[in-house]
Amino acid sequence: HLTGKTAVITGSNSGIGLGVARELAKAGANVVLNSYTDTPEDHALAAEIADVTGVDAKYVQADMSKSDDCRRLIVAAGGCDILVNNAGIQHVAPVEEFPAAKWDAIIAINLSSAFHTAAAAVTGMRERGWGRIINIASAHGLTASPYKSAYVAAKHGIVGLTKTLGLETAQEPITCNAICPGYVLTPLVESQIPDTMKEYDMSREDVIKNVMLERQPSKEFATVEQLGGTAVYLCSDAAAQVTGTTISVDGGGPRF
Ligand code: NAD
Repeated sequence: HLTGKTAVITGSNSGIGLGVARELAKAGANVVLNSYTDTPEDHALAAEIADVTGVDAKYVQADMSKSDDCRRLIVAAGGCDILVNNAGIQHVAPVEEFPAAKWDAIIAINLSSAFHTAAAAVTGMRERGWGRIINIASAHGLTASPYKSAYVAAKHGIVGLTKTLGLETAQEPITCNAICPGYVLTPLVESQIPDTMKEYDMSREDVIKNVMLERQPSKEFATVEQLGGTAVYLCSDAAAQVTGTTISVDGGGPRF
C-alpha cells in the first residue's frame, strides 16, 4: 500500500533501521538508506533491497551528528513522504564519569538529528498532502535505568518532540509517532553485553536474562521485523488518527 511513497530511514545500514527499511520496501515504498559511512557494502544493501522487492532504493551518506548533513539527507532523497528517525548510539557510565563528548554525541545523533530531518521534511509532506514521521525512541523514552543518562535524556526528549510535531501537524494528513522498543538483539545491544558482564560480574546468559530482559516480562527480544511491521502499520490508513503518541514493542515492559 506504500507504492509511490519514498521513505528515508536514518541509520539504516544495520539493525532496526535496516529491518524497518526492508519492511517498508516490502510494503511498496521506495527507500533511502543512510549512515555516516560510505562503503561498497552500504550501497550493496540498497541494491539488494531493490532486487528483492522491486522498489527504488538508494544509499545516501550523511552524518546524523551534523545538522547540515541531516538536512542534506532529506534534499538528496528527492522527496520524503515517510521519515524514520532511527540513527542512535549508546554509552553506559555513571554520571560523574560520563564523558562530556559522549553526552554531546548522543544528544546530537539520538535527538537533535530528528529535529533537523523533520524540519527539512515537513514542508514537502505538506505540499504532497501526506506524511508520516516515525521516531524510533526506546523503552528508555518512558522509563530510566542507571548509567544511561544521555541515552535516557535523549529518548525522553524524542518522545517530547514526537508529541509536539503531532500537535503541529494534527489538522493535516501528517502523523508523528514514536515506537518504543524494548531490547532487540542488534549490534548496538550486542556491544553492551561485555561491559554489563564486567559491571555485574555475570555470564553472558545471565546478563541477557537477568539484566537486559529483567524488565521485559516476555523474556524474549523483540525482532527488527516486528519493528518494521509496526512502522508499516503507522503508515497505513488504519493509523491515520494515531498521532503524537508512543507505541511500545517491549514484551510487556515497564509501565512506570
Ligand atoms: P545499530 O547500532 O545496529 O544501528 C544504529 C544505526 O545508526 C546504524 O545503522 C549506525 O550506522 C547508525 N548511526 C550511528 N551513528 C550515526 C551517525 N552519526 N549518522 C548516521 N547514522 C548513524 O543499533 P539498533 O539497535 O538497530 O538501534 C537503532 C535505534 O533503535 C537507535 O535509535 C536505538 O537507540 C533504538 N533502540 C534500540 C533498541 C535495541 O534493543 N536494539 C531498543 C530501543 C531502542
